[in-house]
Amino acid sequence: MQQEKFYSLSHDLRRKYKYLEKIVGGNLEIRKRCHVCGQYVEFDERAYKDLIFEVSDNPEYPDNIMFGGSPNFIIISQRALEVFNKESITGFQAYPITILHKGQKIERQYYILRVYGKAEYNYKKMGKKPAFYCENCGYTEYSGKRPLNYEFTYLKENSWDGSDLFSLSAKYCTEKVINIIKKNKLTGFDAEDIIHSLNPHEQSYWKHL
Ligand SMILES: [Zn+2]
Repeated sequence: MQQEKFYSLSHDLRRKYKYLEKIVGGNLEIRKRCHVCGQYVEFDERAYKDLIFEVSDNPEYPDNIMFGGSPNFIIISQRALEVFNKESITGFQAYPITILHKGQKIERQYYILRVYGKAEYNYKKMGKKPAFYCENCGYTEYSGKRPLNYEFTYLKENSWDGSDLFSLSAKYCTEKVINIIKKNKLTGFDAEDIIHSLNPHEQSYWKHL
């Protein structure tokens, strides 16, 4: 079988694109705590419903709009969602959000993606052992200095569940997703090969799609 290629997905940071500045409505209190380690690991499914964001003044709406705060969501346009559905991209659930500009609701519809596809890092191969790793939720803690300084990122063999979109400390996807984004000229996506994606000193691999 041919080896699957994976990419890290991020946002095109050029100033022409609007981004979501902050969450101004919705219930962010109902996050899920891991029953093993007690960390807040993932937003509760209910927290994805009815989120309201305020958008920046930049000129253009991209298909992949960045949220400037934490955590790092994937939020896509109606058109992008239609393309993802038509192409049967797996590993996510989409929830509609409301976007305000200067306090007024905009016409355009965007969707926040809860990415539930899974895989695991191969820390052994990456040459760094986390100080704590929760088997249940994947929460990981490191001793020593931040940022992490991995040279290369590897996934544990057989840990990928086969989803086109999957989530570890970042959002990752298959080559199929990259090709679909390119073919349909969806805007606002940046990507790089997963192997370089956790190296904070390596900027040169990131590409606008
Ligand atoms: Zn945990």
